[in-house]
Formats: sequence, C-alpha cells, structure tokens
Amino acid sequence: MKITFLGTGGGRWVVLKQLRASGGFVIELDGEKIHIDPGPGALVRAKEHGVNLCDLTGVLVSHRHQDHFNDAVVAIECMTRGVTKKNGVFASNSMVIRGNKEHPPILDRYHSKMLDRIDIMKPSDSIMVGRVRVTATPTKHGDDKGMGFVLEGEDLRIGYTGDGEYFPGMEKHFGDCDYLIMNVLRPRTDAWPGHMNTEGARKLVSGAKPGQAIIKHLGMRMLNGVAEREAAWIEKETRIRTMVARDGMIISAGPAKRPGKKIPENFADENGY
Ligand SMILES: [Zn+2]
Repeated sequence: MKITFLGTGGGRWVVLKQLRASGGFVIELDGEKIHIDPGPGALVRAKEHGVNLCDLTGVLVSHRHQDHFNDAVVAIECMTRGVTKKNGVFASNSMVIRGNKEHPPILDRYHSKMLDRIDIMKPSDSIMVGRVRVTATPTKHGDDKGMGFVLEGEDLRIGYTGDGEYFPGMEKHFGDCDYLIMNVLRPRTDAWPGHMNTEGARKLVSGAKPGQAIIKHLGMRMLNGVAEREAAWIEKETRIRTMVARDGMIISAGPAKRPGKKIPENFADENGY
C-alpha cells in the first residue's frame, strides 16, 4: 500500500495562492491505483513527486468544489492514455456527474465514453474499483451531496472524510480503518459550520479509533506550525498517532498498528515525516 499526497491545502486562500498544493492524493492498494480529489495542479504535482497518472485505475471525487475536482478530467485523460484506450472507473456524486441548473457536469461525452464505468454514488453505496471496495460515507458540507470514502483492500482499510464538519455518529462510518485521512480546515478554537476543525477531528478519531490519523486540507489558520500543534493535541487526547500530511509525503506500509490486528513489521513513512 502506498499513499502519495499531491496536495494538503484547503480553503480559498491556501489553494488560490498555492500556499500548500491541492492535487489530492493517490492510493495504490492491491494492484489498483486510485486518485482521490484531483484538485488544481494535480498533474503538475504528480510529475513533481514522481507519480505516473497514466496507470490509474480509478478517479474518485468527493464533491463538486473546485479544489477537489478541478483536474479530474486531466486525471481521466491520463487514465485513458490520452483518450485512446477505454479504461478505468470514475465515481462521484450526482452534482459532479450530472450537474444541476447552475453547474454543468464536469465530464463531457468525449471523455465519458472512454471510461469503463461511471458510478454515481451516494452515502452508503459501495462499488468495486478492481479489487478495492469503495464505500461512500456521508458528510455535512456545502455540497449536500458530498461524500467521503472508505477504501477496503484485502487486509487494509483507508478512510477519507471528504469535506465537512463532524456530526454525531460520523465515527461509525469509519470503524476499523488502518488509516483515517481527515480534511481539517481550522484549529479547535475556530468552529465554522460545514467544515471540520481539530475539535471535530478529535471526536472522530476518538470514536473511530483508526490505526493512525492524518490531517490535511489545511486552511490559513492551520499554517505556520499550528496544524502540527493541533495534531499533537489530538494524539495526546486520543492516544492515536496523528500526523499532518505534507505535500509530496508518502505513506508506504502494511496495516498500521491497531489493537487486535496482526500486522507486518514493515511500517515505514518514506519521507520520514
Ligand atoms: Zn468543499
């Protein structure tokens, strides 16, 4: 399993000024290679960090906000070898795939017809991307059809919250995750309806009890060491390892250390973060 973070920024100004990158992340698991939320600059960041998008097998978009879907069509161009080979799965919600009166679908017919499958998902739906099961989870966010995802391989589960604030019961959608990747925009002192802060993240981590928690999608108020301090606080409160993702960070590992689960001893964080 390998996760490469092509972007860890979130919120308007961090993304528009590229104070942190916004290319989403790529998960390689059980022979599949899945790009999640390819935001602005995903292709450029992939090149920068040595990730070849031409062997993607799936593209997932959590919701119809620009910082999450901007480069999805480019990722699909890569996945279909420059739109010459029918290949791969694209999955998202109906706002992204069908659009509405205000927003057109993000994908045109030219690209759509070169995909093996397009799946419109809603929370609790499950699909297979090759050998990996992808289950959509609910969110409380501006795109009310937004989702998170749980990716399940043969012996490893990775949760991703998508955007949105913590809500009671959220943890039950992320049970038994080896890694839980959370979009955390603000510190705990700073609540903003529709967005997760570190207090919400603490509640989620303490309820879901993942092997390891990772925070990303950092807004302006999480820069300059704040996110690292907040992650340390979550770790102290929950006793679950919590780290801040960095642009280009790679996690390469077997299942993380979770009570009661047998794990190989090859856990490594290649960049040493
Ligand atoms: Zn959003």
